[in-house]
Amino acid sequence: MALDHPLPAALSPSRMADFQSCPRRYQYGAVERRRQPASYATTKGRAVHAVLEALFALGGPERTLEAARARLEETTASVLTEEVRSDIACDDALEARLRAEVAAALDTYFTMEDPTAVAAEGVELRLSAEVDGAPLLGILDRLDRDAAGLTIVDYKTGKVPDRRYDVHTFANAELYAALCEASLGERPRSIRLLYVGAGRELERPVTEAVVRARRQAAATVWRRVRTYYDAGAFPATPSVRACRFCAFRDVCRASGVPVPV
Ligand code: SF4
Repeated sequence: MALDHPLPAALSPSRMADFQSCPRRYQYGAVERRRQPASYATTKGRAVHAVLEALFALGGPERTLEAARARLEETTASVLTEEVRSDIACDDALEARLRAEVAAALDTYFTMEDPTAVAAEGVELRLSAEVDGAPLLGILDRLDRDAAGLTIVDYKTGKVPDRRYDVHTFANAELYAALCEASLGERPRSIRLLYVGAGRELERPVTEAVVRARRQAAATVWRRVRTYYDAGAFPATPSVRACRFCAFRDVCRASGVPVPV
């Protein structure tokens, strides 16, 4: 039976991660385009990203902590739409907590690097390219250039992961590296993940082998997406790990999938 929705035109790293954790999740989010309610964590992440984007829209010497703080109220308000407020049951106390935590993340960010000295080649940079048959699309937080080449910078507001899991931690950013190489003709030399909540940075070089592996993974995922799409259904692969943070638990259960608690 055919799905009553068009095949997505592009594959983003986050949608690819959805598919790899559970193909049904990809069906609900990317194919059927069901809305994923905001959580407190995603709202905070968006607010921090929005302030840093506004900061990097300024000229280098103007990117001060005072300039970032001055943009905090406006950018946080733009993230807190009525829909988001409803999703996270935002009352005055929660809003105050959000503003305080975003302000603290900004303070911490300024202890990690000096944005006045950063040569950003792109901010919220949208890139797309066909990579080994997969139509990749991604928006990079930041792409920096120094004398040694390009660096992908990704802001994180969650916990710092154990370095034993680097292969998972860097997977999305490494796919961005493959996308950069395909669309800009230049492979970034490294990736920096800035954990602005914790004041820690994880860095990893980008190698040809890593980019090749990510390209192959994207091509494999896209082939499987097309196969399931043509078959009219994406299988559910429930597990505690995949389902815990899935926004589609209710609809999935209603369709008969035994979603673990
Ligand atoms: S609830 Fe679990 S099984 Fe259902 S779509 Fe989400 S991850 Fe997949």
